Amino acid sequence: MRRVRHDFTKNGSVLAAACCAVYAKNMQDEVRALLILQDRDRRLLAIAKDLAKLPKDQERARDKLKGDQAHLAQAQLALKEAEVRVKKIELDAETRRTTIKRLKNQQFETRKNDEFQALAHEITRYEQDVDAYETRELEAMVEADAFREAVHIAEKQLSATEAQVKEELARLQQRHQILLDQQREVEVDRTTCAQAVPSGILPLYQKLMKSKDGLAVVALKDQLCDGCHMKVVAGTMIKVQTAKEITQCENCGRILYQD
Ligand SMILES: [Zn+2]
Repeated sequence: MRRVRHDFTKNGSVLAAACCAVYAKNMQDEVRALLILQDRDRRLLAIAKDLAKLPKDQERARDKLKGDQAHLAQAQLALKEAEVRVKKIELDAETRRTTIKRLKNQQFETRKNDEFQALAHEITRYEQDVDAYETRELEAMVEADAFREAVHIAEKQLSATEAQVKEELARLQQRHQILLDQQREVEVDRTTCAQAVPSGILPLYQKLMKSKDGLAVVALKDQLCDGCHMKVVAGTMIKVQTAKEITQCENCGRILYQD
């Protein structure tokens, strides 16, 4: 029986054609055929699990893009708002410059000394205003430059992520194709292997595969079932050792073979 286990674990695929081509002749052969079939079924389960994970991996890759896109949109909005602030300050300063021109014209035309002085006072006030606006405009322009730089960095980041995501999606697509090819190959192999198992055992095996998490046939090691790790009764152990009939673990129901 040790040889059976060795064949199953080390040379399962190589043995497939040879073993499956011959129908089981005795109980040991039946268990061996079941183990090979279980190996193919477990491979198919693993492939199906990997295939099921792919859409989530693709979604995760695209999500990376969404984060960078949102970041860029935010930076672009901040820049636009900063540019509007600069424009508004420019307009406010320009309005005051126009007022200064008007006041200077009035000053030029007046002949009254007190009116001339009052206008001069007003012109000075507006000129101070213009100075203050020019200072604020410079500050706002520096702020806008910082936002412009932030947009530039966000664009570069998005572009790098786009390349990364494109590569990741291509890799996932390739993996998808590889898994589909493997699935097709193992399915063909599995059909051949199933033919080597006596049809009488198949329903029990298939039922156990579904209910026992893809592990229907397990070794009995030192009277312990390798599926549920419970100790089996002596009668079960003897039946497994003599290998005259298919024996199930009385705790979990899995089919046992002597390790
Ligand atoms: Zn068990």
